[in-house]
Amino acid sequence: MSELHKFLFEGLPVRGVLVRLTDAWTEILRRRACGSGAGAYPWPVQNMLGEMAAAVTLMHSNIKFNGSLMLQIVGAGPVKLAVAEVQPDFGLRATATITDDVAVDASLSMLVNLDNQGKCAITLEPKGKFPGQQSYQGVVPLCDDANQKFERLSDVLAHYMRQSEQLDTTLVLAADDKIAAGLLIQRLPQSGLGTPASRRESQLNEDETRNDEHYQRIAMLASSLRREELLALDVETILRRLFWQEKLLRLESGTGDNVPHFSCTCSRERVSKMILGLGVDEAQSIVAERGSLTVGCDYCSAQYRFDPIDVAQIFRGAGVSPPARVAVQ
Ligand SMILES: [Zn+2]
Repeated sequence: MSELHKFLFEGLPVRGVLVRLTDAWTEILRRRACGSGAGAYPWPVQNMLGEMAAAVTLMHSNIKFNGSLMLQIVGAGPVKLAVAEVQPDFGLRATATITDDVAVDASLSMLVNLDNQGKCAITLEPKGKFPGQQSYQGVVPLCDDANQKFERLSDVLAHYMRQSEQLDTTLVLAADDKIAAGLLIQRLPQSGLGTPASRRESQLNEDETRNDEHYQRIAMLASSLRREELLALDVETILRRLFWQEKLLRLESGTGDNVPHFSCTCSRERVSKMILGLGVDEAQSIVAERGSLTVGCDYCSAQYRFDPIDVAQIFRGAGVSPPARVAVQ
C-alpha cells in the first residue's frame, strides 16, 4: 500500500512529509504498458514521471486546498510534455508524451530541456469552481538564476518554492518501476505574533537566526538521504536514521480514503464536452470517415467510443442541429 506520513520537529518551525507510492505508482505504469498502445515508458521517463507523482503528493499534503494540484513539465527533447496530478483525496494520475527516442542514460535536461527553454508549471484548480473563479498557476524555468540547467526535479521544485512561496524547502525524490518516493522538509513561515511590540524586532531577528540554524541542520540531514535508501527503506527506518537526534511529532498519516491511490478523473461526460468543443462539422466528418469517434484517455487508457447517434445526441443536447443524414442513420 502507498503511504504518506507527516511530521513536525517539536518546538521548531520546520515540518516534513514522507511519501512512498507503491500500488498507486505501479498502476500508472501498468496502464501505460498494457492499455495505451504506446508501450511502457523508457526508464529515464518512468523515473522522472515517478518523481513528479511523488512531488505532487508531497506538495498537496503540505497545503490546505480543496482542488487538484498539477505539475507539468514542457520543453524541447524527446519528452514534449509530462504531467502529474493529484486530487484532495490523493487520487493520482500521470502521463508523458514521448515523440522521439530516449537515450538510456538521459538526464532531466536531455529529456525535456535541450534548448534550456523548458518550463515547469504548477497549477492549483479549485474543486467545483464557481463562475469567474480563477485557477492559480506558477511557472518557473528548468534552470537556476545563472541559467544553469537543473538536472534534478527536486532542485527545480525547491527553486520554485523559494521563488513563488518564499519558503525554504528541501526535497529528495526517487523512483523506479516499483516505487515513487519523496521526502519534503520545509521551513514554516515566521509568525511573530504574541511578541510584545517593543521587543518585536530584535526578538524576531534573534529567533530568525536561531531558526535558520535549525532549518539548515535538518535540511542537511534530509539531503543526506540517498535515492537508493529512499527507495529501499521503510518509513520508520528512514526517519530514525535521519532524525534520531531530533524530536519528531508525528501527525496523522494518510489512512482510509486518504491513502494515495491511482484514480483518473476522465469520464464519458467530459469527453462529450470535448467533442462539443470540436464543433459539429469536425465531429461529423470524423464519424463519416471512420464510422465512429473514439477518444482514448492518456492517463488511464480508457477508450470512449461514440457512434453516429451518440455524436448527434451530443450536439442536439447542446441545441446544435446535426445534418439530417446523420440523424436518420
Ligand atoms: Zn482517464
